Amino acid sequence: MNFMSRKKKEEKQKMPERPVSDFPRLSKHPQLVKGMKDILPPDQAYWEHIRALAKKIAEGYGFERIDTPIVEHLPLFTIGIGKQTDIIEKEMYSFIDQGGDSLALRPEFTAGFARAYIEHGMQSLPQPVKLYTIGPLFRHDKPQEGRYRQHTQFNCEVIGEGKAAIDAQLILLGYRFLSSLHIKTVVQINSIGCRTCRGTYKELLTEYYRAKRSSLCEDCKRRLNKNPLRLLDCKIETCQQLISKSPPIVDSLCEACRDHFIAVLEFVEELEIPYQPNPHLVRGLDYYTRTVFEFFAVSSDEGTQAGRMSALGGGGRYDNMIEMFGGLPTPAAGFGIGVERAILKIKEVEKASGAKVIEKNPTADVFVAQLGEQPKRRAMVLYEDLLKEGFSLVSEFAKDSLKAQLEIANRSGVKFTIILGQKELLDGSIIIRNMEGGEQEVIDMKKLIPTLHKKLGHINHGKEGE
Ligand code: AMP
Repeated sequence: MNFMSRKKKEEKQKMPERPVSDFPRLSKHPQLVKGMKDILPPDQAYWEHIRALAKKIAEGYGFERIDTPIVEHLPLFTIGIGKQTDIIEKEMYSFIDQGGDSLALRPEFTAGFARAYIEHGMQSLPQPVKLYTIGPLFRHDKPQEGRYRQHTQFNCEVIGEGKAAIDAQLILLGYRFLSSLHIKTVVQINSIGCRTCRGTYKELLTEYYRAKRSSLCEDCKRRLNKNPLRLLDCKIETCQQLISKSPPIVDSLCEACRDHFIAVLEFVEELEIPYQPNPHLVRGLDYYTRTVFEFFAVSSDEGTQAGRMSALGGGGRYDNMIEMFGGLPTPAAGFGIGVERAILKIKEVEKASGAKVIEKNPTADVFVAQLGEQPKRRAMVLYEDLLKEGFSLVSEFAKDSLKAQLEIANRSGVKFTIILGQKELLDGSIIIRNMEGGEQEVIDMKKLIPTLHKKLGHINHGKEGE
């Protein structure tokens, strides 16, 4: 006999309360990391379109896809991009991993492509090697519209050829890509010479800036002695004024670089690509040689507001990088276009013109509705059969009421709803409802597939009863 008191018995049976610490909880709702962006379903059509267009255009010009890892060894970027650049000094996501390796999230593609070219012995392939990719890059920049800490670029690189025709073809490719997105584009082009002629120019530039040292921002003061070319991409207003009066680099080009630049411009003219020479364009990375260029969207208020423009992409030649990484001297050139900025621009174009540049993903054709437990199970199997037949479908098996299902069918814009209830299940029939007029017909379940094909106008499927 158990003489335990009732009270004690009750206490023993009570479930112990779980301590709060068993449920780890955030003190507030989880939030996006600053500068990062979700791509929500309504925007996916833009992304799909851009990925498909990038593939079509790049492959149309003989480029092959490559995907390099997001994480690389840090020195690849510090050596490749240059220590005195904004990207390396301020924007790099770098870290030491558990094994003690010094790594970085890639801030750009070119250095990774060059590494892959050397590491996979691509110099033994027929030259040039043409590679493209589309993927995320990471820069700890000041976030604002069109400037994120993770952004995506469509990137094309040609490694193993130094001729001006390649520079022009890359410019053409980027221009075609943006034009196909209905973005009116102009290309700014400059040449920053080679190691030989750049030395003379750096001296000239240092001399020009030395007299104006007190007006420079702190970054520019610091960079003046180490890397004067970087002063030309300072974004500070006061420094910008000095840039506009600085000596143009083209005046210091050696003969070979000048000929190369002229040849690029001749190709660009022949190809009828709208361009503007920009004598102060140097771009924010140290590895460029000779040609540099940037794609700008010309806004619709051009002319009225002195042509307000925003950079959508850029690129250039980098003839020394492969050698810097220990490879043989190998000329190369490439460009990157920012996908998020291109999408912002497309939306601007759509707003201004009132017409869609990119159609939303097409809506499904048929809604599969069910009424009752058994019909629901049968309808789920039917859904699979119809998917295999290639129909584009939508359903909501979590809903029991027909009214609720028809509301969803209406919202999704399908042409037909098929309805399977208890009666139809017993009869071996199914209802087809035309969503436009609301009229319904009952047909033999065996004839459903050919009937739907016929009603949807699918060719080669129209014969009922097959
Ligand atoms: P860059 O690699 O700096 O020459 O940039 C090429 C293009 O990528 C730019 O013209 C932009 O369209 C895009 N881009 C660069 N940085 C960012 C960023 N932080 N956020 C969004 N897009 C960017």
